Amino acid sequence: MARRVGIYTRISRDDEGEALGVARQQRDCERLADLRSWQAVKVYEDNDVSAFKRNVVREEFELMLKDLRAGLIDGIVAYDLDRLARQPRDLERLIEIYDERPRLEFATVTNDINLGTPDGRTMARIMVAFANKSSHDASRRIKRKHLELAQQGKDSGGPAPYGWRKDDRTKVDPEAAKAIREAQREILAGVRIGTIRTRWQEQGLGNPREGTKRMAHHQVEHILTNPRLVGYRTYHGEILYGDDGQPVMGEWEPINTLEEWEAVCAAVAERKRKHPGRSLARKYLLSGIARCGLCKAKIRGQINQRWEPGTKATRFRYQCSVVNGGCGKVARAGDPVDRLIAQLVLEEQRSQAMVTAVPSEQRWAREVELEQINTDIAQLVEAERSKQITVATLLQLLPAKERMRDELKLERARFYKERRQAEAKGDTANLTVDEFFALPIERQQEIVLHSLSAVIIHPAGRGRRKFDPSLIEPVWR
Ligand SMILES: [Zn+2]
Repeated sequence: MARRVGIYTRISRDDEGEALGVARQQRDCERLADLRSWQAVKVYEDNDVSAFKRNVVREEFELMLKDLRAGLIDGIVAYDLDRLARQPRDLERLIEIYDERPRLEFATVTNDINLGTPDGRTMARIMVAFANKSSHDASRRIKRKHLELAQQGKDSGGPAPYGWRKDDRTKVDPEAAKAIREAQREILAGVRIGTIRTRWQEQGLGNPREGTKRMAHHQVEHILTNPRLVGYRTYHGEILYGDDGQPVMGEWEPINTLEEWEAVCAAVAERKRKHPGRSLARKYLLSGIARCGLCKAKIRGQINQRWEPGTKATRFRYQCSVVNGGCGKVARAGDPVDRLIAQLVLEEQRSQAMVTAVPSEQRWAREVELEQINTDIAQLVEAERSKQITVATLLQLLPAKERMRDELKLERARFYKERRQAEAKGDTANLTVDEFFALPIERQQEIVLHSLSAVIIHPAGRGRRKFDPSLIEPVWR
């Protein structure tokens, strides 16, 4: 069984606002865990605002130590040692656990340190001690300059991100913007990022690596969810907020409205929650939807070599498999089953579409409430600045407001995501069977699952027979 590890991320705003995005930290850690064949089971995320308070209790860090000691996780993956253990004291507490429980796993993205070995511990102690001492004056000055520019909404240098013109990164590249919007619509309709990545690579879209057409999964994801799309200025991967509590707006043309962008981000995030880690591509329409008529086990599609001897045929069949816990006694050629189900489902959805009209245009109802909270936050921050209240008071009042704001924003994102998903799916009613099969496979599956909860494939008896539709039983929702 795969080792179960926890991922630790931390945002720190004490180094002149330097904040390596939590999202990026987590992504890199997940990739590292993947690489080591560990299963990332939990993310511990601390938001460290130590600019205000020197000895903030890192709640998630404490929880992680507890879980580690209790054996709920078998190790830790962190972005770097500095983020994990700032103080020698924290490091010693960690090392103590690694002493007690040998065989624990440990890895960081940026350095090759292993707390599981004595050498690694010595190294870690030295590194933490140094990090604690050094000041990095020069690099701080440069960072401060970068931050200043960012706070003014100035664009960062470098090549233009996909979506904007190569010769002028403040202007939208209409072709690229169109490709982005189209891909975002697909995401909302349930298409996976991997599918869009494949298509973009084929069409030479996106921001492929120099001299190739290849792009990493996370690059495509970033292009479609980049805060820059709505004009938000980011700094080290995080949205930058101004003194008024509002995001700093960049000096370039946006591609998305806030609603569009939030909806896409929410859809991507939700998909990740539902399908953590890498999911295997489901190549056949009814894999996992079809069930065996005898034992009711789930049936997957598979290519059977003996089925079409001598040819490289793409003929496949749905086969109840002993390996997957089934009886292994039922199988059917796949293509006619797929066609039959597609016809039935499309017919049903056509008749449904005539009954239910598309939902009317509608706005999220709590926009005013959110605005009010933003104003409250800005006023609190201003009150502290003008010395009407102390930092301590501010920090007492702020978290509750921030929580409310974040909850509302999440709710708004969900609201628009659901509206847009409904719209994106609304146009299936007029598909022909051929158009249906031209869609990406997960879109096809989604359309099928909209109408059916399963397809039962009944046994057909021995020998090769003509396809009998009556032995395929759709289970309607
Ligand atoms: Zn079976």
